[in-house]
Amino acid sequence: MSRSSIRLAAAVLVSLVVSFSFVACGSSSDPPAGSGHASSSAQPGTYEDWCDEHGVPESQCTRCNAALIPAFKATHDWCDEHGLPESQCRACNPNLQIARPAKRAGGR
Ligand SMILES: [Zn+2]
Ligand SMILES: [Zn+2]
Repeated sequence: MSRSSIRLAAAVLVSLVVSFSFVACGSSSDPPAGSGHASSSAQPGTYEDWCDEHGVPESQCTRCNAALIPAFKATHDWCDEHGLPESQCRACNPNLQIARPAKRAGGR
């Protein structure tokens, strides 16, 4: 194989990987219901605003939204050891209970 065809093969591989991960992530920013994550339209502090995967409000889930991390660090609510807000760190606080807000009766 010549040098240029290796480069071409690498480019094809990269574009395949990129398009595959794009498909895997989905093109919509709103995950479908039942994915375990709140949609971006969920109101913070409501039943809908909940990350099932991590057991915290989606609007405060630093594992889903790394952009939230500086805000927690700014309020000194941060566990460096586990990379989580201290108020969400079950490793440091085994008795930690984060309650999901109750579903509002009668829909919206
Ligand atoms: Zn999450
Ligand atoms: Zn911790």
